[in-house]
Amino acid sequence: VTELRRSKIRQEWVVIAADRAGRPMITGLGEASVTEERSDECPFCVGSESMTPPEIYRVSGPDGAWSVRVVPNKYPAFGGRNDGGRSPRSGLLQRRDGSGAHEVVIETPNHRMRLVDLPESQIVAVLETIAVRARALMANPEHSYVLAFKNHGREAGASLSHSHLQILAMPVVPEAVRRMLSTASAHYDAEGRCVFCDTLEEELRAEARVIEEIDGFVVLAPYDSRMPFEVAIYPLEHACDFATIAGGACNGLARALKRALGRLRFACGDVPYTLVLQTAPNPRSISERYDAWKTLTLAYHWRFELLPRTARLGGVEWGTGVHINTVPPEEAARVLRQAEVDA
Ligand SMILES: [Zn+2]
Ligand SMILES: [Zn+2]
Repeated sequence: VTELRRSKIRQEWVVIAADRAGRPMITGLGEASVTEERSDECPFCVGSESMTPPEIYRVSGPDGAWSVRVVPNKYPAFGGRNDGGRSPRSGLLQRRDGSGAHEVVIETPNHRMRLVDLPESQIVAVLETIAVRARALMANPEHSYVLAFKNHGREAGASLSHSHLQILAMPVVPEAVRRMLSTASAHYDAEGRCVFCDTLEEELRAEARVIEEIDGFVVLAPYDSRMPFEVAIYPLEHACDFATIAGGACNGLARALKRALGRLRFACGDVPYTLVLQTAPNPRSISERYDAWKTLTLAYHWRFELLPRTARLGGVEWGTGVHINTVPPEEAARVLRQAEVDA
């Protein structure tokens, strides 16, 4: 089991996960060698199912074969038993077990297909799988926060080239999420509205950073973009928790996401990226209840963040948390709007 350490000064958690250093690092996605539909060494390929830990969930195609598969991460950042312990080791050095879950969503049986290349119906299956697993993980009140994310390309941290996402269940609500929750609940208390809905309204009126509005989703380059070509995808209809998404809404989201990824590839090439689902914490969480919970469903708003990883984080970012973004989001939106993508 991994260890969560609390930074008293920064008010943040750090995961100490020595086992993860043993992960295999296979061919990066950006490399031309990934041309076969199947690779013998790849544990995510058809026919190699026995190379992964036992399957948790699958979506089957009409022929009965799997089209999406969920398995435990072999090198979990969170998982294993919970000793119930917040047990501080000594006054300022707080720790607890990194209990929770760490799952891998294999997006396609095809070794060389990337998320952007998958048919929309397959992306719908992937998104629905995330919702199914998030609901299952949130049934456990020890899972305070469920994070779904994807690293594409070695520079973004992907260790296997076969297209996959990851889902983490954490025993704490991370500080970054907490801060956004506090902001959202304060805005709701003052204005009686969701701060994200209000922001969307302003962005749609300003138009400069909107890339497109499609099937109930708004795709935009956020005003406060940290990275060149950062993109956010918001559902127009207010909802705090992605896991409650209705089946039909996944169609619109799949289309918006595929088109956003296609625009990025058209504009920047096959750059490494991180895709993050920002969503509400588990309302059933037993260890993490505080004031922001009361208005959670009204004040918070889920969305996907797409972060191209072309800029390296340097001294300013690490030293101060201040990001230097060399491409104004207005310019990024203009370029991404003009990109050619399938209808
Ligand atoms: Zn593979
Ligand atoms: Zn909202």
